[in-house]
Amino acid sequence: MLPVNPDLFKKIFPTNVSAFFSDTTADFTLPLGAAGLSGPQKDFLRNALSINPPKVYTMRQVHGNRVLVIGAKDIPQNSNIPEADAMVTNVPGIVLSVRTADCLPVFLYDPHSKCIGLVHAGWKGSALKIVSETVKVLSRTFESDPKDILAAFGPSIRECCYEVGEEFAKTFPGEVFQRKNTMCLNLPLVNRNQLLNSGVKDENIFESGECTVCTKGFYSFRRDQEKAGRHLSLMTMV
Ligand SMILES: [Zn+2]
Repeated sequence: MLPVNPDLFKKIFPTNVSAFFSDTTADFTLPLGAAGLSGPQKDFLRNALSINPPKVYTMRQVHGNRVLVIGAKDIPQNSNIPEADAMVTNVPGIVLSVRTADCLPVFLYDPHSKCIGLVHAGWKGSALKIVSETVKVLSRTFESDPKDILAAFGPSIRECCYEVGEEFAKTFPGEVFQRKNTMCLNLPLVNRNQLLNSGVKDENIFESGECTVCTKGFYSFRRDQEKAGRHLSLMTMV
């Protein structure tokens, strides 16, 4: 089976940008205490994606809103994996990565200031406006103008399956909807609204539209709990 590289990404980003969302061929779980990618994970990147593992930057995702700025001198794989939920860079060849199993991966590219960002947006990080924070960091660090940014949402849990308690309506007003007898959160909508409020144009936001819970062939924490593996989203530019 080939890794998922939805046409979506090819439609959105120019050929100098590569974006991937791995399928369930490889599990990209980052165990506690792991010093980075495991041997099988590196093999998959090399063989299936022709990606050089030492170029892949890893972070320990903590559902916060800290954004890492990756520079040419940063070391991608070591025993001190930084805690954060988004990465940005303007260095060609650096590969940003995010792990998800229902949370929303958001890919960002500014073709004018030539910088990229990759975001892990679950409900907690979204409540802390991680995607807005990432756009701010792109602007502050690389003089990116939000109206130039192209954004893509990978597969995630969606409104069809994301049952939440009524209290979520207070955190996400207008983004929680009644479905039969339950309330459901629309996580992509939350992030779309944050991007719009940050100045990203509606026509520059693209969605995969795929739900990791009710579509076959995805890891889903909601569906499989502790047994769920992790997808790896990757983004790089030349
Ligand atoms: Zn669903």
